[in-house]
Amino acid sequence: MKKMGKFHYIIPVFVPDLGCPHQCVFCNQKRITGLDDVPDREKVAALVEDYLKTMPGGPGIKREVAYYGGSFTAIEPALQRELLAPAYRLLIQGKIDGIRVSTRPDSVSEDIMALLSSYGVNTVELGVQSMDDTVLFKSGRGHSSRDVLRASAFVKAWGMNLGFQMMIGLPGDSEKADLYTASELIALKPDLVRIYPCLVLKGTRLAEMFEHGEYNPLTIDRAVKICRKLLLMFERAEVNIVRIGLQPSEQINLEGDVLAGPYHPAFRELVESAVARDQVEYLLKKAAVEKAVEIEITVPEQDVSFVRGHKGGNVEYFKQKYGIIRYATVINFNLQRGIVKLTGVDGRKVDYTVSRKELPIVDKILER
Ligand code: SF4
Repeated sequence: MKKMGKFHYIIPVFVPDLGCPHQCVFCNQKRITGLDDVPDREKVAALVEDYLKTMPGGPGIKREVAYYGGSFTAIEPALQRELLAPAYRLLIQGKIDGIRVSTRPDSVSEDIMALLSSYGVNTVELGVQSMDDTVLFKSGRGHSSRDVLRASAFVKAWGMNLGFQMMIGLPGDSEKADLYTASELIALKPDLVRIYPCLVLKGTRLAEMFEHGEYNPLTIDRAVKICRKLLLMFERAEVNIVRIGLQPSEQINLEGDVLAGPYHPAFRELVESAVARDQVEYLLKKAAVEKAVEIEITVPEQDVSFVRGHKGGNVEYFKQKYGIIRYATVINFNLQRGIVKLTGVDGRKVDYTVSRKELPIVDKILER
């Protein structure tokens, strides 16, 4: 069970590479899902019922069944119906509140949308990965950016929520291409986005390319730097970023499957910490502080760990760069998330504030 928010629960149903007509260089779907067999109607029903028993319900709680993995709408229609039927029954009974599927952009058509709609699907997540056609080609995706535009228009026209999954660090990719992808996706007004740094998994074409020196994965540092810009862009456009990075327990066996690439168990925290560091640095510049012994940062409770950085990384950064020995964080329960205040410098009270959306880094990106 995945918690998407305080009152939003996802029941994941993994459908391994059935129906996928391609072999993307980074994908070994069976490894990603950790499943070799495809569920049938009974298995899906039992799985969802089991989840529901352990899940809180009642007013204000939203529960959704999500079909992940593979390319759901590329499966033959009879099997799509078979897999969707148990979730649809629960939807009609009011036991769940929504159904989502993830699929490829070139596996969406009027007929497919009609099928999904008749089974109550209300969210379609498209595995876009990139809007740069060279990157898509080099990654063996087998579809183009035009397919993304077409599929997005279908999803919108059928009144469903539109989600995108994008990847950074693919073959032929660059930061510029990633920022371009994000701005193209934002223009399509999605409801949600997931951002995945590309990892080299065993048994994939990418693993061979890596072993032959034809592919260099991103470092964690580089991936964090790119993702922090993407996060700020999507946030400013008010797109819900439901995931940055892979979760070990849900997706892959890290011991055996990841050969290389920017994997970190707390990847999103690293990205959030990088953004918070930008905010503190921005405030120090605003206050014309070049060196200080102590500073006081005031933040909402949930953001304290980001402002201090993963394992105190930001505290160390400001110590090295500004000589700050005492990096005090004070909680203000009334502050909105994403707001950081500089409230003290070397014993002086000061008052400088910045929200994430105000960080000039986003303006610089959008100006391009
Ligand atoms: S389209 Fe999806 S399932 Fe098919 S190979 Fe690519 S990533 Fe894997």
